[in-house]
Amino acid sequence: MGPRIAAALGDLGVRTLADLVSHYPSRHEDLSNVKPISDLRVGEKATVVARVVNVKPVGRPVRGRVPGLSAQLYDGTGYMPATVWGRGWLLNQLVPDTWVVVSGEVQRKYGLQLAAKSIEVVDDPATLGESAHAGRFVPVYPANKAINARRARTLIHRGLDGAGRILDPLPAAILARQNLPNLHDAIHEIHFPSDRDCLKEATRRLVFHELFLIQTGLAARKARLEKTETGRRHRGDGRLLNPFLKALPFGLTGAQERVIGEVLEGMRSEKPMRRLLQGDVGSGKTVVAVAGLLSAVESGGQGAIMAPTEVLAEQHYLSISAALKDLPVNVVLLTGSQGAQERRAALEAVAGGEAHVVVGTHALIQKGVDFHNLSLVVVDEQHRFGVGQRTEFKEKGVTPDTLIMTATPIPRTLSLTLYGDLEVSILDELPPGRKPVDTRAIAVAERYEAYESVAEELEAGRQAYVICPLVEESEALEDVRAAEELYDELVTEIFPERRVGLLHGRMKAQEKREVMAAFRSREIEVLVATVVVEVGVDVPNASAIVIEGAERFGLSQLHQLRGRVCRGLHPPKCFLVADPKTDDSQKRLDALCDHQDGFKLSEVDLAIRGEGTLFGARQSGMPDLKIAKLLRDIDILVEARREAFELVADDPTLRKPHHRPLRREIRDLLGRDVDWLFKE
Ligand code: ADP
Ligand code: MG
Repeated sequence: MGPRIAAALGDLGVRTLADLVSHYPSRHEDLSNVKPISDLRVGEKATVVARVVNVKPVGRPVRGRVPGLSAQLYDGTGYMPATVWGRGWLLNQLVPDTWVVVSGEVQRKYGLQLAAKSIEVVDDPATLGESAHAGRFVPVYPANKAINARRARTLIHRGLDGAGRILDPLPAAILARQNLPNLHDAIHEIHFPSDRDCLKEATRRLVFHELFLIQTGLAARKARLEKTETGRRHRGDGRLLNPFLKALPFGLTGAQERVIGEVLEGMRSEKPMRRLLQGDVGSGKTVVAVAGLLSAVESGGQGAIMAPTEVLAEQHYLSISAALKDLPVNVVLLTGSQGAQERRAALEAVAGGEAHVVVGTHALIQKGVDFHNLSLVVVDEQHRFGVGQRTEFKEKGVTPDTLIMTATPIPRTLSLTLYGDLEVSILDELPPGRKPVDTRAIAVAERYEAYESVAEELEAGRQAYVICPLVEESEALEDVRAAEELYDELVTEIFPERRVGLLHGRMKAQEKREVMAAFRSREIEVLVATVVVEVGVDVPNASAIVIEGAERFGLSQLHQLRGRVCRGLHPPKCFLVADPKTDDSQKRLDALCDHQDGFKLSEVDLAIRGEGTLFGARQSGMPDLKIAKLLRDIDILVEARREAFELVADDPTLRKPHHRPLRREIRDLLGRDVDWLFKE
């Protein structure tokens, strides 16, 4: 092929023959219903194999191009005209007696005619079965400008011919057990299926293939970590944990009790714990974290908890030190913006072991902080970190246990794939008395109604958040300006009588701290903020939130923001001031108004966004999915996972000769992440 086509293929992610044949069609058109002309009925979709009697252009030429053509066809059983648009350039080729295959819908228009979607010249009708374009299930590919669906079809048809026999890296025993076709057949059938059933089987095979490779990679990684790393056996005696739990102003939920049990159990074992804790906004993950941290301290170790923002780190520091103030536990804060002196003191306490619990931002791992005896790391709000950043702590030969907490923008089904090498604990119960947040989408023109409703809350002694529209991903200067404008409007026009505060990411840490403290102590009644308050901020007296420019936020972000007001005793309100310009943003707003449950919302989100992009940008270290759809394919995922873990249990490094092709395939897929798999 020429360089232009090669470049266009490159844009589609196709660089090798293997890429080409695994450029799967997005759907198929059924052109397999081949019929003689005399049998055609009005309204049916059919394919006709016939000779051209004559042909004429139709439509008015545009810049010398004929838009369509009409051909009179004869197949020995009858005559029929066929009209096809967009194929004017075929006019000269369709000399009388040429064989063509025409597919389309039979319509009545001065007698019967075929409104054709495709017309293909064939050399010999006897070899019809070999054509890529006609008389069969015809694949339709995701195409770009330079490569239309037809060109893609031709290239792939030739690619399959050129590829020869495609070897199957999956062990034959698994294929037999799962009743799956071999890879060669599956790839051929997914492009040019013999019939509907074969297409279905081929799809199932390729979905299994994709998920199985990922799961095997994860299983191998897990096996390796368990073999090469020893964790600490935590032997907590409850001397800190019990008084902490007793002093809580509430009883634990059943889910909290169960999950704390799972965490402590995991910490007791010598294997390094890697546990994912999923719990919706407000489900009380912090208590679980503190329980783990105390158990670490009881066993003579240190615990660290990392938050994605300084505001949240600060809040954890305040609430954890308050909760532990009567216990002999030193809690230390460590953030990037601390003064040099303060920071040095903190670092010394961490290195010397006087600091028992260290609270910080991810500066905690980035800056190579030296711990005396780190034995548990808690990562809060993991979705903000991404998988790639997953804790690379290592302490003097001992791997600390890790507890990763997330408010799950990740559906249950997905976490199996994303975090397939982690144990999963789920907090599936909210503390009693939580009220659903009355959520309403409001047009920009009516936003004052939202503020009137907020005024009622303030009147009753409660507080509110107002979130500024998001201008840029990061907190750029424009965001700050927008925030300041909104702040001015609130101060001068909307709530001139109220104490309004402003919080944005560009403020100095000290300023932020003061604003948050003032909001917590109710000195500030209305907090205007950018998304810095998105995660974790916990001020129970706040009962209303207005989100301006809500159409610009992602669904999980909106859910997180709304979560700021579901913590008090008053029925909370959320106003989404939005001007949705697309269907998708309308769907997001509707979903929020209809659902409170974060798991449900994450599934909706997934359905709206499609799954292909899930891994790419946000979750580094995972390949994009080409064919599997996790919501649809959960059953296959479960099977693939089971088979993968079984295989790895038997052959952890995939050294057995018949696993070699599999190993190579996994490296191609997961790249450098699994380089260790190939080291002797
Ligand atoms: P998240 O899971 O979103 O991090 P938090 O740990 O911040 O949630 O808890 C949210 C709020 O719920 C906090 O104010 C916390 O004190 C409170 N809380 C946690 N557990 C319970 C419980 N079992 N009963 C009542 N309130 C609880
Ligand atoms: Mg939290």
